Amino acid sequence: MTALALKKISKSFDKTQVLKDIDIEVNEGEFVVFVGPSGCGKSTLLRVVAGLEDASAGEVWIGDQCVNPIPPSKRGIAMVFQSYALYPHLNVSKNMSLALKQEGIPKDEIAERVAEASRMLKLDGYLERYPSELSGGQRQRVAIGRAIVRKPKLFLLDEPLSNLDAALRMNTRVELANLHKQLKATMIYVTHDQTEAMTLADKIVVLRDGQVEQIGSPMELYNNPVNQFVAGFLGSPA
Ligand code: ADP
Ligand code: MG
Repeated sequence: MTALALKKISKSFDKTQVLKDIDIEVNEGEFVVFVGPSGCGKSTLLRVVAGLEDASAGEVWIGDQCVNPIPPSKRGIAMVFQSYALYPHLNVSKNMSLALKQEGIPKDEIAERVAEASRMLKLDGYLERYPSELSGGQRQRVAIGRAIVRKPKLFLLDEPLSNLDAALRMNTRVELANLHKQLKATMIYVTHDQTEAMTLADKIVVLRDGQVEQIGSPMELYNNPVNQFVAGFLGSPA
């Protein structure tokens, strides 16, 4: 089953075109990484999928529905940002449960979901703490937890590890891979980091200047890059 389909997506800001005719299909349960240099349009593409930006042309399909007219909160997605975007005045538990409360989900179900997510993310001991009392890695786990509790059809992660130091980045990367296995969720993960792309992805989409250069498994791209750019970017010798 197709979880996400982007059909000829273009996006311009004023007269500058930042996305051009993007066609991508993502299968249910896949871990797909959008990779490309800074400024190539990765975040904009994710924001178009989320509905935080309207496409200038083209269609976004989630499951069997064209979601162009559907607002972000009704798209069945959850987004995790590089900056964590936690509420500083709410403790971990409240940060995770706020969106569920707003959706009118019953209290005991909220408690259950928060408990489950915090177990998965090893945050059980931290539920009463405030963001300022957490390490960077813990904050990022709260941000991920906030996405998990919503049980989205689609996770969108925009460079979620880029504010962490190297060692923590590697640990969190492994945790994310495990989480994906446990949740069996569809994940779209944006990064400019080749290692993250090669180690996490079922499928990599290489972007350059707002266009898709190549789509394939890490090994396909490594062994058969379509051009020097892909070869150079993913570190193969071609
Ligand atoms: P990436 O995430 O790959 O680094 P972005 O999607 O953030 O790239 O940006 C792609 C291009 O679009 C950049 O040139 C950026 O300056 C431009 N851009 C992004 N958002 C806006 C905006 N709201 N208004 C004008 N230009 C934007
Ligand atoms: Mg970005």
